[in-house]
Amino acid sequence: RITTPNYFIPKSNLQLHDTLGEGEFGSVYKGMLKSVNGKDELPVAIKTLHDEHCKQNKTEFLREASVMIKLSHHCIVRLIGISKGPPLMMVQELVPLGSMLTYLIEHPNEINANFELKIWASQIACGMSYLESHHFVHRDLAARNCLLASKHQAKISDFGLSRALCTESNYYQASQGGKWPIKWYAPESFNYGIFSHASDVWSFGVTLWEIWTGGQAPWGDMKGVDVIKLVEIGKRLPRPALAPDNVYRIMENCWNYNPKDRPTFQYLTKFFANDPDYQNLVELI
Ligand code: ATP
Repeated sequence: RITTPNYFIPKSNLQLHDTLGEGEFGSVYKGMLKSVNGKDELPVAIKTLHDEHCKQNKTEFLREASVMIKLSHHCIVRLIGISKGPPLMMVQELVPLGSMLTYLIEHPNEINANFELKIWASQIACGMSYLESHHFVHRDLAARNCLLASKHQAKISDFGLSRALCTESNYYQASQGGKWPIKWYAPESFNYGIFSHASDVWSFGVTLWEIWTGGQAPWGDMKGVDVIKLVEIGKRLPRPALAPDNVYRIMENCWNYNPKDRPTFQYLTKFFANDPDYQNLVELI
């Protein structure tokens, strides 16, 4: 195992290979992390911040790293360390199959709706439950931000918008809209900037919808303002053809207007893990 004291990795221990994807502030590369003695190598994903970025983007990049460094769970992408570069780099565990959204779109015939999809749903809920127990809200849960380590292991990534909740309040109040993924957001988030575990549950419901539609875009090319109007009058995303009744009912419950009426991540983990007690309970919600 390669140890990285203090999580700071010298640039000379990193080798950048092919590009894995484009992030908001820079590229993500496949690479190798060499141990200090140069004998061991670990395949990693390296997220870079382009040099031309301003101080605020640097702060956001480091904020994401500071959240991830506190998390250790098999359903959450692990941050191995950061390198001052330049460019500034975040070194993460390599999640070989990449983005779940791309996988859903490119490999529709390799996925079983009642097997893989339920496993992924349960693992995402399990990772979110862990995040909840550490008082973090994710604020950007979506299929594009989940990665697949294998066909049977999903992991949550992209903690760029996530925030720690203070112990007295159970929510985070955002000051401004910024570039928000409105179609994944609960009414209290787009109306009042309030984010909580329950608003993450709403986004989880939209993620379920993406998963069961094979990666379709929620609300198609509708504008965010029009989606807000529809959600406010009680309209919700339609049932995906592949979603069984009880799975769609779970989505609808995640989209209950009142945050208190939404299921918890603990419940959702067990439901999708096919816990028989929970399968029956869904009828009662
Ligand atoms: P955005 O905010 O636009 O979603 P971002 O700046 O947060 O982008 P990421 O979504 O983290 O960047 O990464 C972009 C792409 O790089 C991902 O969609 C995925 O394909 C790939 N990627 C990111 N992290 C990893 C990883 N740890 N292992 C494998 N691939 C990864």
